Amino acid sequence: MLELAAGVVRDADVFIITAGAGMGVDSGLPDFRGDQGFWKAYPAYARLGFSFVDCANPQHFSDDPSFGWGFYGHRTNLYRDTVPHEGFHIIRKWIERSRGEYFVVTSNVDGQFQKAGYADDRILEVHGSIHWLQCQTPCSSTVWRNDEAIRIDETTMRARHPLPRCPDCGEVSRPNILMFGDWSWLPDRTRTQEHAFDQFLANNADRRIAVIEMGAGSAIPTIRATSERIGWNVEHATVIRINPCESEIKAPHISMPCGALEGLQNIDALL
Ligand SMILES: [Zn+2]
Repeated sequence: MLELAAGVVRDADVFIITAGAGMGVDSGLPDFRGDQGFWKAYPAYARLGFSFVDCANPQHFSDDPSFGWGFYGHRTNLYRDTVPHEGFHIIRKWIERSRGEYFVVTSNVDGQFQKAGYADDRILEVHGSIHWLQCQTPCSSTVWRNDEAIRIDETTMRARHPLPRCPDCGEVSRPNILMFGDWSWLPDRTRTQEHAFDQFLANNADRRIAVIEMGAGSAIPTIRATSERIGWNVEHATVIRINPCESEIKAPHISMPCGALEGLQNIDALL
């Protein structure tokens, strides 16, 4: 399998990188796998009896904004402080060596691809980004960069005042992320990215495409479905699925049962 994967990378003109929560694990980020995984990362929520789904609800921004911003402010700070692992750079090296084209499709809201030097106009963030804000109402379709300094009391996981606010109406703002039970998320930024990705696919449909999927589980299947749609519908596309728990995919696509960094390093060693 490893030899096959190295061959696909060696021959590719186009790289489509599809990444789920498992991509961040090697950078030290929690992947919120199940309640136990979430509570291990956030013991304060275990004490309060809140699951990830309970916390990732837009209602908090209106009912109890210090609680809402406690969770998202903590994550904003965490993602700002995180250094993307070597795997991000290994793929960039492959792209540069082949003088290839690329596009990233990720369900992660952490901005780690941008931080690792991938171009903003070559990324589709299907669930939005924590580094962009919107009005919680929302009073308009405007989104703006999250430059807020957010201070959290980590024993209670509540954000200290002042909280980030909408510059137009003064209401508390929220991250431009699709949450659970979310009717107020503004999708325009993601829709623009989707359009760019569709265009990219149309422009490159007859080239040799390596789809490198990492850490995308079946619990939130968007990323896996994207990889498979390309893998089965585009003639010269091969998916390399790297995942420690759910790596299965039918041939000619390639399954690598390991973590993202380990899988990328193992392929790289053969190039
Ligand atoms: Zn507003």
